[in-house]
Amino acid sequence: MLKGKNAVVTGSTSGIGLGIARALAAQGANVMLNGLGEKGEIEALRAGIEREFAVKARYFHADMTMPEEIAGLIAAAEKDLGSVDVLVNNAGIQHVAQIEDFPPEKWDAIIAINLSSSFHTIRAAVPGMKARKWGRIVNIASAHGLVASVQKVAYVAAKHGLVGLTKVVALETANDGITCNAICPGWVLTPLVQQQIKARAKAGGRSVKDEELALLSEKQPMHTFSTPEGIGALTVFLCGDAAATMTGAAYSIDGGWTAQ
Ligand code: NAD
Repeated sequence: MLKGKNAVVTGSTSGIGLGIARALAAQGANVMLNGLGEKGEIEALRAGIEREFAVKARYFHADMTMPEEIAGLIAAAEKDLGSVDVLVNNAGIQHVAQIEDFPPEKWDAIIAINLSSSFHTIRAAVPGMKARKWGRIVNIASAHGLVASVQKVAYVAAKHGLVGLTKVVALETANDGITCNAICPGWVLTPLVQQQIKARAKAGGRSVKDEELALLSEKQPMHTFSTPEGIGALTVFLCGDAAATMTGAAYSIDGGWTAQ
């Protein structure tokens, strides 16, 4: 379905981003990976995608707190792959604390990675998409882009901001063959959430398994984690012809979290 298209997925060395990169590659898209991690492990992921899906997979190290490196990522994809047709803004981090204890440097890092990096990738990628009259931008927001939770002031602010950014980009590109949407997952069992579960289990003296269920049932009517594969499949759908007029929206995949 995406044969001949080129995709950039930020934060695709782990979790949801990796699931999305693999889902796009499975549809024939070439992919530019990005994210932090150990060199050898990243190379194994990259080579694995090329082997499994017979597409080009490249990796570019760009720190999502650094606007110049982010511009470098888009430029590298345009040079090495030929274009950026699909852009998935997925890189993200979390920090949990009451606002009065929230370290200002964590606020800055979360706003930079979870929000501003999408501004920088999109502003760099849109001119090429407009010139080719085709583009798909998918921003990985969160249930926390739609509703709030305690102790997540920076994350909730960044994700609400990302949903707003999504709407503006959709309006500005509405007649250029480009769509821009947000995906709002509930709990997905990735390293980002595993860290939170471990910290909670330690603080409460409970097992990790008990804490997983406690975490799910606090927020989600459905006591099941969403998966990177499911979010990858939704991203693929948003890139397809059936979704050509779906733009400026935020799609929940959250076990009923935001239905309440
Ligand atoms: P993860 O920790 O498994 O992956 C995060 C990715 O971002 C990694 O590839 C990491 O290397 C990359 N990254 C972090 N800091 C970076 C930086 N400075 N520069 C470049 N890359 C950087 O987490 P995940 O759960 O897969 O999260 C992916 C996205 O999904 C995030 O935006 C997160 O907010 C969102 N999300 C996650 C959940 C969940 O339950 N896991 C729910 C809703 C939304």
